[in-house]
Amino acid sequence: MLFNETVFGPIHSRRLGVSLGINLLPLESKLCNFNCIYCECGWNTKDKNKKFNLRDEIKLHLELKLKSMNAENRYPDSITFSGNGEPTMHPEFYAIIDDTLMLRNKYAPNAKISVLSNATMLANANVVAALLKIDNAILKLDSGINETAIMINKPQFTYSIDKIIEHMQIFKHRMILQTMFLRGIYDGKEIDNTTETEIQAWLNAIQKIEPREIMIYTIDRKTPADSLQKISFAELDSIAELARKSGYKVQAAK
Ligand code: SF4
Repeated sequence: MLFNETVFGPIHSRRLGVSLGINLLPLESKLCNFNCIYCECGWNTKDKNKKFNLRDEIKLHLELKLKSMNAENRYPDSITFSGNGEPTMHPEFYAIIDDTLMLRNKYAPNAKISVLSNATMLANANVVAALLKIDNAILKLDSGINETAIMINKPQFTYSIDKIIEHMQIFKHRMILQTMFLRGIYDGKEIDNTTETEIQAWLNAIQKIEPREIMIYTIDRKTPADSLQKISFAELDSIAELARKSGYKVQAAK
């Protein structure tokens, strides 16, 4: 499923309320430096002409949408960067966040700005600075074990979970950690990030990162890898309970 608009919605999100989406990525194909086996946008494609949406167009579409919502006395709870891939890869991400802050303050001052990110661009000082300006940096960590994270997220570069965790520590008590729990077979290998060993490694990672909040969820729609299984809510909630016992606020998606 691809988003075919630069600014989409608003949609109702269980986690963020009335959420107005911003898609910085191409409308006709996904652009991401991960290739997650569960990605709702499908597998990465080899199309070499993928282009990020232009900063001015994004600003224009967002302003038009916020104005039309204002005219109907409607206001978003969140302006949320998600869409067809990884938003922080956009070369003008910092400036786009500044534009969005300005428009939010003008048209919807109570709205939060949220960015859903895979946390792979945190070595870039501009990306970190931009994420520190917003309300909700929602950063992905699908396993505390390097090999499992590689199997689930299929990074398109040399991946080190220690580096990702180190970068996330910049956002101590500020970021929201997001984890997808699943199990199944992919490429002839069993994948299960809910085993005792996995959960222990995930809890250890949380203790190092110290997020403000944690969101856990499971598969909700069709996935590109076809033999993945959803985790029951009872199981998700028992995982959430373990993190709650360590003092964290945890939302498990129903
Ligand atoms: S990080 Fe997000 S957009 Fe990228 S492959 Fe994974 S789920 Fe898809």
